[in-house]
Amino acid sequence: MNPALEGQVALVTGGSSGIGYGVAQALANAGASVAINYHSHGEAAEALAASIEKAGGQAVAIQADVSDEADIDAMFDTLIKRFGTVDIVVANSGLQKDAKFVEMTLADWNAVMNVNLTGQFLTAQRAVREFLRRGPRPVSRALGKIICMSSVHEVIPWAGHVNYASSKGGIQMMMKSLAQEVAPHRIRVNSIAPGAIRTPINKAAWDNPEALKTLLELVPYGRIGESEDIGRAAVWLASDDSDYVVGTTLFVDGGMTLYPGFADNG
Ligand code: NAD
Repeated sequence: MNPALEGQVALVTGGSSGIGYGVAQALANAGASVAINYHSHGEAAEALAASIEKAGGQAVAIQADVSDEADIDAMFDTLIKRFGTVDIVVANSGLQKDAKFVEMTLADWNAVMNVNLTGQFLTAQRAVREFLRRGPRPVSRALGKIICMSSVHEVIPWAGHVNYASSKGGIQMMMKSLAQEVAPHRIRVNSIAPGAIRTPINKAAWDNPEALKTLLELVPYGRIGESEDIGRAAVWLASDDSDYVVGTTLFVDGGMTLYPGFADNG
C-alpha cells in the first residue's frame, strides 16, 4: 500500500512548534516531501527536517515572516527550487496578543491581523499561482490543496481576544470565498478549526491541573487535543480520500462547538 501523499510536496507555515510541527510530521509520515516554515529560531524546524530525512523522507526548513510579501515570495522560490513545485499548502502560522477591548492597542490588533489573516491570504495566493503555473500532476486528483488553520473561534465569540476571534472569523470567509473562486480549477481549499490543543500558544490553559480542569469543562469529550489529532485531520484533507470536500471547515475540537455550557443550563 502506498502512503496517501507519496510523491507530493507540502509546505507548512509556522511548522517549528505546536500544531504546525505535528502537521509537518504527519504529512511526512504520509509520504510527502515537506517544507517547514519558521519565523525565528530555526533550530526546531531544522531538527524536524533532519529527523524526517533520517527516517528516509525529504524535508527542508525555510525562514519567512508570513506577513511579509517579499518573504513569502522568497519562501516559495526556495521551495520550488528544492522540490520543483508544491501540492499541499497548510497556512498555519498564528499568534495571540490578548487584551481587554478598551485596552487593546492598534499594534496588538494589527500584529494579529497581519499574521493570522493577511499571512494566510499571502500564503494561499502564492500557492494558487503556483498550482496554476505548473498545471496537473499525476500525484493527486486535485490541482492543489490549501488548508487554512482556523479555530473554533471562527464561530465562538471570545471576550478579551477580539483581534484573534476577528482574524479567525475572517479566515472562515476568506477560505470559503477563495474555495468558490478556485474550485473550477480543481483546487480544493478547506479549513481545520482546532479546539483546545496542547501547544505553546495556550500553555497557561493546560500547564497546571487547576487550569486544565477549567479548560476541560469546555470539552465534552473530556481530554485536551494533541497536535497529532490535527496532523491526522490534515493528512486526510490533503489526500484524495477527501477529494469531494471543498470549502468546508473541519472542526477537530472534542465537541467544544457543541456549547457544553448548555448541557445542564438553558
Ligand atoms: P504555536 O505558538 O506553537 O505556533 C504558532 C506558529 O506560528 C509558531 O511556529 C510561530 O513561529 C508561527 N508564527 C508566528 N508569527 C509568524 C510569522 N510572522 N511568520 C511565520 N510564522 C509565524 O501555536 P499553535 O497552537 O501551534 O498554533 C498554530 C495555529 O493553530 C495558529 O493559527 C492558531 O491560531 C491555531 N489554533 C491553535 C489552537 C490551540 O489550541 N493550540 C486552537 C485553535 C487554533
